[in-house]
Amino acid sequence: MDKIKIAFFDSKDYDKQSFVDSNQNEEFEITYFETRLSEDTYKLAEGSDVVCVFVNDDVNSVVIDKLHKMGVKLIALRCAGYNNVDIEHAFGKIHVVRVPAYSPYAVAEHAIALLLTSIRRIHKAYIRTKDFNFSLNGLTGFDLHGKTVGVVGTGKIGRIFIDICRGFGMNVIAYDKFPAKDSGIEYVSLDELWNRSDIISLHCPLTDESLHMINAESIEQMKKGVVIINTSRGALIDSEALVEGIKARHVGAACLDVYEEESNVFFHDYSNHIVNDDTLARLISMPNVIVTSHQAFLTNEALMNIADTTLNNVKEFFDKGTCTNEICYKCANLATCKQTHENKCF
Ligand code: NAD
Repeated sequence: MDKIKIAFFDSKDYDKQSFVDSNQNEEFEITYFETRLSEDTYKLAEGSDVVCVFVNDDVNSVVIDKLHKMGVKLIALRCAGYNNVDIEHAFGKIHVVRVPAYSPYAVAEHAIALLLTSIRRIHKAYIRTKDFNFSLNGLTGFDLHGKTVGVVGTGKIGRIFIDICRGFGMNVIAYDKFPAKDSGIEYVSLDELWNRSDIISLHCPLTDESLHMINAESIEQMKKGVVIINTSRGALIDSEALVEGIKARHVGAACLDVYEEESNVFFHDYSNHIVNDDTLARLISMPNVIVTSHQAFLTNEALMNIADTTLNNVKEFFDKGTCTNEICYKCANLATCKQTHENKCF
C-alpha cells in the first residue's frame, strides 16, 4: 500500500521536529506547510489523504467541502480543542480525530507559573535586576496559602490544577457543567464561584454556552482584586469587559495564555510591527496583565505525545477504518454518538 499522505498545516520548527522524530521510519509521507489551513490555502492539500491541523487553522464549512471534494478522508487535529472545526458540517463527509490529552500537567503547571509570576511580580523583578535595579518598591505580593481559588471545569487539566493549589494550602471551590462524583471537590454555582474566589482559573472548553462567561456582569460579581487566569480558550473572556474591569481597579490581575482574537497574532513575531489590535495592546500595556502566546502546552513531553498520538490516530483510522479518538458533533454536543456505525461516528 502507498504511504499515507499528510498535509501538515501551520507547521512550526518545534512541532515539525517532534513529528519528524515520531515518523523516523518514514511510515507516513508528511508535507509541512507553514501557512494555516483556510479558504485561501486548502489547495495545498491536493492529493493528500489527511490534513493535520492545530488550534488556529480555520476548518470551516467551505474548507471542509473543498477537502471532501479533493478526496481528503481525515482531519487530524494535533490538539484537544476543536472549536476551529465545523464538526457538524464535517459529519457524514470527513472524519475528525484529535489528541484528547497530551500533557494536562503542562497546562496546569503553566497556569500556576503565570499565577506565581503575577502575584509575586516576578516579571517586574526580572527586568529590574537585569538593569541592576534592586529596589523592592511596588513588588509587594500576597500569600496563596489560605486564599480561595475558583476552578471552572474540573476535567483533566482542572483536576491537576486543583491538586497543585491544594499543595499551596489554598481553599478550592469549583464549577463544572458535569460535576465529578465522589471527587471530594466542593462544587458551587457559577454565581457563588464569582462571588467567593480570590483567584479564578478557567479549564473548560469553549462552547456556545461558555462563550464570554467572564463578561461585565460576572466581573461585577467578583471580589475586588480578583486574579483571573485563562489557559483554556480566549473567547471564554470578553476581553473588552476585562480591560474595563482592570481599569476600574476591580480586577487585580489577569494571566492570559489565550486571547479571543489570538489567531491574528499569536505564534508570529510582530516585534517590528505596529499591532492593530487595540484591546490586546491595552492589555499588554497593563503592569498587572501577563500574556503568553498559547504556550501552556509547550513542553517536550507534550510535543512527543501530540506527535505519537496524532500519527497513531491516522494509522488506526486507515488500518481499522475506526479510531478511538474520533470526534463528531454528536459525540461533542449531544452525547448521543456512541460510534455505533460500525464503530465509527458515521
Ligand atoms: P477535559 O475535557 O478533560 O475537561 C473539561 C471539563 O470542562 C469537563 O469536566 C467538562 O465537564 C467541563 N465543562 C464542559 N462545558 C462546561 C461549561 N460550560 N462550564 C463549565 N465546565 C464545563 O479537558 P481538559 O483536557 O481539562 O482541557 C480543558 C481546556 O483546556 C480545553 O477545552 C482546551 O480548550 C484547553 N487547553 C489549552 C491548552 C493550552 O495550550 N493553552 C492546551 C490544552 C488544552
